[in-house]
Amino acid sequence: MKVPLLDLKPQYHALKQELDAAILKVAESQYFILGPEVDAFEKEMAAYIGVKHALGISSGTDALLLALMALDIGPGDEVIVPTYSFFATAGVVTRLHATPVLVDSDPVTYNIDPKQIESKITKKTKAMMPVHLYGQSAGMDEIMNVARAHGLHVVEDGCQAIGAQYKDGRQVGTIGDIGGFSFFPSKNLGGYGDGGLATTNDDALFEKMKFMRVHGMNPKYYHKMVGGNFRLDAIQAAVLRVKLPHLNTWSAGRRKNAELYAKLFIEAGLAESPGKTDYDASNRVLLPRAIYASSTTPHTYYRSPAFPNVHIFNQFIIRVKERDALRDFFAKKEVATEIYYPVPFHRQECFQYLKPDMSAYPVADAASTQSIALPIFPELSEEQIRWVVQSAAEFFA
Ligand SMILES: *Cc1c(COP(=O)(O)O)cnc(C)c1O
Repeated sequence: MKVPLLDLKPQYHALKQELDAAILKVAESQYFILGPEVDAFEKEMAAYIGVKHALGISSGTDALLLALMALDIGPGDEVIVPTYSFFATAGVVTRLHATPVLVDSDPVTYNIDPKQIESKITKKTKAMMPVHLYGQSAGMDEIMNVARAHGLHVVEDGCQAIGAQYKDGRQVGTIGDIGGFSFFPSKNLGGYGDGGLATTNDDALFEKMKFMRVHGMNPKYYHKMVGGNFRLDAIQAAVLRVKLPHLNTWSAGRRKNAELYAKLFIEAGLAESPGKTDYDASNRVLLPRAIYASSTTPHTYYRSPAFPNVHIFNQFIIRVKERDALRDFFAKKEVATEIYYPVPFHRQECFQYLKPDMSAYPVADAASTQSIALPIFPELSEEQIRWVVQSAAEFFA
């Protein structure tokens, strides 16, 4: 049975009339960059996220870059980032001629390990950029406590986590100074091209980012500071406005699929209680902790009292020792998978100038060789999910 990693066509066909009309409306208006669609979208996003200000940006990467520029990060500054993330997280730091300082991951969530942050702080540290990896909040209480104790800024990379909630119910992107989001088509809220969002509760940072989004220009052709072209297109805003009302339903569909995977992996005898961090004979597959099987509420595989973050499952990641062989086997069964990410930052060629200590990141190293992303998009059928688990069972038989 064919199981694609992601198929965006069912979503398009379900909303085709509205989406086509929204795109044509922009064509009729001939108003392509920023403008009324983007203004309306920003208001709707701010209300959805529960944040004072939201700014439409050209991409998630640009939202993170603009955030650091607005915080005056530059040469000589250090920014603490996880070593295990999508490239942009560290790339934007280096592009500003600041230094990314890499931290290993937490073995349960693969987010930055908050316990290891404090030891990385120096006189040069200006900010930290935790990532809400795969759609699950990083440990924001610990991160914010360290930030406050040392007077550091916090930029949240929420590019994979729009709508995800920290355990206290706050959405990601509202906790640090600035949040960055991406509307790359494969994210839970995907545009029809590149797009992003910057969020903040700080009026001054909002004004500064708004200004820097258009080359720091105000009035026209007068520049008090150097910004960039970080503008969102009207067509993207129009498409995203049609999709936003469905986002929670789609993320709930992903959670339901995650629960079914967990249930089936456990029934197949391939996994024990989700969240185990060690392999043993009965535990061939390590499930994400966020779908923790509750002993008191059977069939509640996520938001357990032990782990109450609301995960939006942009990716469903399992860990398997025989990862590469399993991936080949899945390919034979027409199950598409992906590796997020095969190379942590400390092993990237472009970051060797940092002279990273190769023995300092054991959790990220293990994750990069053992993690595999299974198809999780909301329109997957139960038969497809059963096929994936059945194929894994066949591999381990
Ligand atoms: C997708 C992503 C980005 C970058 O978003 P783009 O819109 O593709 O620029 C940044 N960080 C993380 C963690 C991401 O997953």
